[in-house]
Amino acid sequence: MSKKYVYLFSEGNANMRELLGGKGANLAEMTNIGLPVPQGFTITTEACTQYYEDGQKINDGIQAEIMEYITKLEGITGKKFGDLENPLLVSVRSGARASMPGMMDTILNLGLNEDVVDVLAKKSGNPRWAWDCYRRFIQMYSDVVMEVGKKYFEQLIDQMKEARGVTQDVELTADDLKELAGQFKAEYKSKIGADFPTDPKEQLMGAIKAVFRSWDNPRANVYRRDNDIPYSWGTAVNVQSMAFGNMGDNCGTGVAFTRNPATGEKKLFGEFLTNAQGEDVVAGIRTPMPISEMSEKFPEAFAQFEKVCKILEDHYHDMQDMEFTVENGKLYMLQTRNGKRTPAAALKIACDLVDEGMIDEKQAVAMIDPRTLDTLLHPQFDGEVLKKTPVIGSALAASPGAACGKVVFSAEDAKAWAERGEKVVLVRLETSPEDIEGMKAAQGILTVRGGMTSHAAVVARGMGKCCVSGCGAIKMDEENKQFELSGKTFHEGDWLSIDGSTGKIYDGAIPTVDASIGGEFGRVMGWADQYRRLKVRTNADTPHDAAQARKFGAEGIGLCRTEHMFFDADRIPAIRRMICSDTVEQREAALAVLEPMQQSDFEGIYEAMEGLPVTIRFLDPPLHEFVPTEEADIELLAKDMGKSVAEIKAIIAGLHEFNPMMGHRGCRLAVTYPEIAAMQTRAVIKAALNVQAKHPEWTMVPEIMIPLVGEVKELAYVKKVVVETADAIIKEAGSNMKYLVGTMIEIPRAALTADEIAKQADFFSFGTNDLTQMTFGFSRDDAGKFLDAYYDKKIYENDPFAKLDQTGVGKLVDMACKMGRATNPELHLGVCGEHGGDPSSVEFFHRTGLDYVSCSPFRVPIARLAAAQAAIKDEK
Ligand code: PEP
Ligand code: MG
Repeated sequence: MSKKYVYLFSEGNANMRELLGGKGANLAEMTNIGLPVPQGFTITTEACTQYYEDGQKINDGIQAEIMEYITKLEGITGKKFGDLENPLLVSVRSGARASMPGMMDTILNLGLNEDVVDVLAKKSGNPRWAWDCYRRFIQMYSDVVMEVGKKYFEQLIDQMKEARGVTQDVELTADDLKELAGQFKAEYKSKIGADFPTDPKEQLMGAIKAVFRSWDNPRANVYRRDNDIPYSWGTAVNVQSMAFGNMGDNCGTGVAFTRNPATGEKKLFGEFLTNAQGEDVVAGIRTPMPISEMSEKFPEAFAQFEKVCKILEDHYHDMQDMEFTVENGKLYMLQTRNGKRTPAAALKIACDLVDEGMIDEKQAVAMIDPRTLDTLLHPQFDGEVLKKTPVIGSALAASPGAACGKVVFSAEDAKAWAERGEKVVLVRLETSPEDIEGMKAAQGILTVRGGMTSHAAVVARGMGKCCVSGCGAIKMDEENKQFELSGKTFHEGDWLSIDGSTGKIYDGAIPTVDASIGGEFGRVMGWADQYRRLKVRTNADTPHDAAQARKFGAEGIGLCRTEHMFFDADRIPAIRRMICSDTVEQREAALAVLEPMQQSDFEGIYEAMEGLPVTIRFLDPPLHEFVPTEEADIELLAKDMGKSVAEIKAIIAGLHEFNPMMGHRGCRLAVTYPEIAAMQTRAVIKAALNVQAKHPEWTMVPEIMIPLVGEVKELAYVKKVVVETADAIIKEAGSNMKYLVGTMIEIPRAALTADEIAKQADFFSFGTNDLTQMTFGFSRDDAGKFLDAYYDKKIYENDPFAKLDQTGVGKLVDMACKMGRATNPELHLGVCGEHGGDPSSVEFFHRTGLDYVSCSPFRVPIARLAAAQAAIKDEK
């Protein structure tokens, strides 16, 4: 049998989201459980993939199948496409497997033309409604299908309102709307050079194609990359018979959440707009009423809606985000999905659902997106300064967090200013999906219009970004890049602070303080720790960072980059002297100055880690990074070393390398200057002995890590230096302290010869930053310049430095683990590249059988949760 590309809602269910998309699967499920859903059908995600495979065409077979389902839908509804008795109108909406709010396109009222609109006007006795539908359809179709651009139509509406002396769309009469529809069609013709299509079937194919095409629009591509959604999934298309919220004051449309998506509070939360259709609520054009008011104006529909909410939560065991329409007092459900929520709300909802017996602890752990935890750990406004700072305005607390930055007025400016290192607050009349990159770049977003479910609010919450919306008190002058609030004019570049938890707006910059974590966060983390197998360590170079990471639950240090300590003002002269030495003796003298400093750094770190394992990596970067560039510093060094300026300059010039990242660095330094490795060994071992003596209850086992090994003999050579030095000190101290010597696996050759290398190593730590760089053969520092072109051309979907390339680099990791363990069953395995804090990479490391991941302190909770989720997934 050939593949089935179209399903009636009554043929699907909630488990079919891969094929039907989230929206389609849930519409089917709601149909199955008997909720009031206007009927329709879903064109599968496979049809979308096929569309792209066929060169962006809907092939004849699929077109025929769609037409067959139109006939079925006509049978179900008793209405007919283009009919002059009882015409069928439909909505056409996207719906991918994972929800992507506002990223793709929707078309409503499809099926209208001059004849049909007349029929509707006459039959309903409500010509205003009929013409409102028609003008909306022309507007949406022109924008979405033909890409004419919304603004031309909005200008025409504004002109019409001005001419009629009204301010709201709803004040326009049937005749006004009829006239507008005419103007819209003329606009369409002038832009496209053809008449607006009148055949509903032609309209439908155009709309379906547009939805498929919208899968590949730039904002959807950015959203997918940020949310780990593969391009290959494609989107489904839902064709649904229309329910009308714009038939009059007995009608309306709403968006609601079963719990508060900002705080998690268990209380229906949402907005409703009378005499309105679809996008009006989220577009922020009119400010809707809170859902509670709906109970007064539409008591019956509201009571029914409350019941539906309960049914849906009980059914899905999660907070639901729903769209609905009330047509002449009757409720219709248009969508339900697990609602997007702030990170704080996610934790509260998960804990509440456990307490309510709706889910178990494992499900609670599995339902939280680890990447969003980040925002919980970030700073809030300093409470003391906040109290003293006058509030200049207040609006909806749309997405929590504190933001402080310079005012900018466009998404492009937000992006450009952020790229040059400025912190910005994006202030807009309202945001639209095209603004996503600017919103991402901004510290926070402030909008003049729009409710809690407006685009700005929904997207900001998804990003965990501070957002204050609907501040109608702002007098905006976007053209001149200024606005007025509380009697003051703010220009581009002025400082502004906004609090997305309270909705308050402050003049000037307010300092921020670290967030404190606990409560629900601690509870969920505690559950996560029970399920994960991977240990989580941190990358930390200072006692401060180490202590921070401990607070976040780090179970050790997986990477201490010693060179970072060398840049301190009191160390850099000694390291420069070491570099410019002519003899081993001179070098050793300079190293002797550094040794006690390193030792005390290590003692501080050991103390902060309270006996947990600490991996110290030996000097890694090319030496030229340490030499002076300023003339005055060069002179100082020359004087210090009793050399001429010219001699020092010659030494510096001699350090120049054409490709320093592949040059004299890592263990190659220790091979050339073994005295450096000897000094670092002394510092590590002496520090551990001292801390052990102070804390007999701890078992200190220092871990020494040799970087950039590509050949086992390199490791053997450096290891010999380490072992001879360490053993002598330990013996002299009369101690029996153990220590480990391991290596980073960050050069492909090390992975390829891991069986040999493992014979010399107590542990491997995958340096996936360098391993990615060397496997791809492009620079981790420069790839950003061209990666965008690779995303655009679909060559790469993600930055391989952020998300592990499991196909290539991952294969090396997997192979090295297996080969290493084969020759050294005791081998301990970890990762310390940036990927150690990326959830999808953590899942891979879990599957590969590593013992731990190591990441920056603020990502430790993310890794803990991701590791637990990987383990839970593995069980299934
Ligand atoms: C790595 O290469 O992955 C690594 C952790 O080392 P660094 O980033 O210091 O090169
Ligand atoms: Mg490295």
